[in-house]
Amino acid sequence: MNPTTETNFLGSVRSMFDRAARALDVPPDLVEAIRECNSVIQLRFPVRLRGSYRTFCGWRAVHSEHRLPVKGGVRYAPIVDQQEVEALAALMTFKCALVDVPFGGAKGGLAIRPKDYDEDELELITRRLTQELADHGYISPSRDVPAPDMGTGEREMAWIADEYRALYPSDIDALACVTGKPATQGGMRGRRQATGRGVHYVVREFFGHREDVARCGLEGGLEGKRIIVQGFGDVGFNTARYLVEDEGVRLVAVVERDGAIMSEAGLEPGAVAEFLGRTGGVRDFPGARFIADGRSVLAADCDILIPAAIENQITTDNAARIRAPLIAEAANGPVTFAAEQMLLESGKTILPDLLVNAGGVTLSYFEWVSNVSHMRFGRLSRQLDMQRNRHIVEMIETTTGKPVPESLKAPLLRGTEELDLVRSGLEDTMRNAYGAIRETMLTSDAIDDLRTAAYAVALEKVVRSYREMGLA
Ligand code: NAD
Repeated sequence: MNPTTETNFLGSVRSMFDRAARALDVPPDLVEAIRECNSVIQLRFPVRLRGSYRTFCGWRAVHSEHRLPVKGGVRYAPIVDQQEVEALAALMTFKCALVDVPFGGAKGGLAIRPKDYDEDELELITRRLTQELADHGYISPSRDVPAPDMGTGEREMAWIADEYRALYPSDIDALACVTGKPATQGGMRGRRQATGRGVHYVVREFFGHREDVARCGLEGGLEGKRIIVQGFGDVGFNTARYLVEDEGVRLVAVVERDGAIMSEAGLEPGAVAEFLGRTGGVRDFPGARFIADGRSVLAADCDILIPAAIENQITTDNAARIRAPLIAEAANGPVTFAAEQMLLESGKTILPDLLVNAGGVTLSYFEWVSNVSHMRFGRLSRQLDMQRNRHIVEMIETTTGKPVPESLKAPLLRGTEELDLVRSGLEDTMRNAYGAIRETMLTSDAIDDLRTAAYAVALEKVVRSYREMGLA
């Protein structure tokens, strides 16, 4: 990032918000009330490890409580800081509003390199973090519900839920204090893959609109398109997997911390993920060319560039070199405000983070609803579904005198499982949200890019909430 031409992540998010607020003509006092985080806490706490105390530093930022609980992941990373957590919390408010998830925005971060600790130590640290959050009112099923983010996953969420339950044993909704838990601990199947699945649905929806595809200089459908993915964790890997397996795209490069691998023939996502998990990097991945300067590969030739790692990866330093006509922001904040201006001026299309990675919080919402209702989705209707479908199949077979082929019959007779309902809800959410921002971009004279449209759709809903609650 060039410090003379660019602000930090929080500055970028503020600028994006301000641009949308100007387009909507929101009164300045309301802009001021909504733009900044309502509260931020810095936590410093010691944990006794390897015979001495180590002090850890973390943050939890609550951006807006116009809807409760507030929601946002907890990130474990060595470089996390307060401005980053505040920026991510603001993004959460607008992301939730955009996809009609009735939560306010929040985010947490702990400055830690998880690899420096073994599993038992990470558990101790995570449990202590949970106590600190609880002590200060920054975790509760009805007020503030964390989730996984970079460096955390199901394992950490299970520890958080268990610690919270131990602290509040009579809270009947204790399990709903955090989402992204393992399916066996009140989590929801498909949550881990949800963000990648959501990216897949949005990219597919984009390719369903020929004019949108033509506007960025591409043509045809998704099949055969060449993609580059930066960051091959939960989000990057699942995005690549669904796009390759379900849509027939070609993964021509993966950019990771230690460098990038490239193959024109296409990389197999499962094999890359397995290699990365086993060796900790992508160097020496068989059958691919290794490039030590991984970030330079963001500018390599491809149809769709998918940054899925961290913020500030496309800046004024490399924006002019980016060749991909379409950028799908699977990570939060990968393109800076200033870089975005350069990309838009050169005719590129950016599918914004607010929309693209909203699949995770959408599934988190489903998990939270299921936790507070203490029932799995589909439990009441599955048998009825199966019976009705059996009758329909019998009717068709009796009327036509022919058996319905097994391949058509089997999915009907299986009935609707929770995973089917959740996937259908996710697809509906992502498609509707893309439709809403596309419509706004096409119909508003003041808006001509998808990010401003996404902020505008979200901001309108937040402003309406403030007005209806009598806060404005
Ligand atoms: P993760 O920790 O599972 O994976 C991140 C991957 O990026 C890792 O493989 C890591 O090695 C790689 N990486 C980190 N820094 C890099 C760099 N400078 N260059 C190249 N690779 C780098 O994290 P995740 O959950 O997949 O999250 C990735 C991004 O998606 C983050 O921006 C996060 O905020 C966002 N996001 C995640 C979710 C979710 O459900 N997990 C939801 C919404 C948004």
